[in-house]
Amino acid sequence: MIWFIIFSIAIAIWFSYRYAWWRSNTDYRYPRILMYHMVREHISGKKFNSLRVFPDMFDKQIKYLKENGWHSFTISEAIANKDKLPEKSVIITFDDGYKDNLINALPILKKYNFKATIYLVNDRHDRDWSGYRKSKNEGAGLKDEPKLSNDEVRELIKSGLIEIGAHTVTHANLSTLGNDDSHKEICKSKDLIEKEFNIICGSFAYPFGLYKNSDVLNVENCGYTNAVTTKNGIADLKNCSLFEIPRITISGKDNFLSFKLKIKTGKRGFGK
Ligand SMILES: [Zn+2]
Repeated sequence: MIWFIIFSIAIAIWFSYRYAWWRSNTDYRYPRILMYHMVREHISGKKFNSLRVFPDMFDKQIKYLKENGWHSFTISEAIANKDKLPEKSVIITFDDGYKDNLINALPILKKYNFKATIYLVNDRHDRDWSGYRKSKNEGAGLKDEPKLSNDEVRELIKSGLIEIGAHTVTHANLSTLGNDDSHKEICKSKDLIEKEFNIICGSFAYPFGLYKNSDVLNVENCGYTNAVTTKNGIADLKNCSLFEIPRITISGKDNFLSFKLKIKTGKRGFGK
């Protein structure tokens, strides 16, 4: 009996620590900017499953947002209206340009009439950027993930729900590049998207969330209006730098409770 009580208390403490469920919500006047990569099944035994959100889970998440009164915007819409965003605004973003964004995510977005911004790597086919940050990740499989063709990107744009942003030409690790190369990666990425798709590309995402102060200046000078990082947190768009906007990371390993807590507080529990 005594062991049962001790065991129950230990579980309760673990659960509370892991999820910090008692924490009250962060002010709903601050929009939630969510970072996704892929919406697809996991590949067992492979790295990067945290980047793969199951389609069923994605559906459940968007349904939850819809049913709980969240309003969806693209990032550039949110920036343009930052002084008059309604309470409970959410911005869904996808990095890199995976094919499943069209095949699996778009039908779900359509179902709930939700929008999203996709940050596209221009030179995304047959390129392995898995190891650009940590060489031990080289060959870990991101190269084999199907990416969007340009025609598929056009289909996404035609849906009226998708904004295309830039994510450098080669998914560069900007923190390792000299200024000329960084400038080229950042500016050319915007130019190529604008010419190929005949749109304005005003939004940028730093690959791996890695960058130097000079890269931020390059993003501004190249004519973008905003840039997102991978720094985890809830953005205060009225007061933060619009070129270093934090996002909430939605992991393929999050359960539904974690997702709800991240929407509420920006985090799943302590430190996550
Ligand atoms: Zn990326």
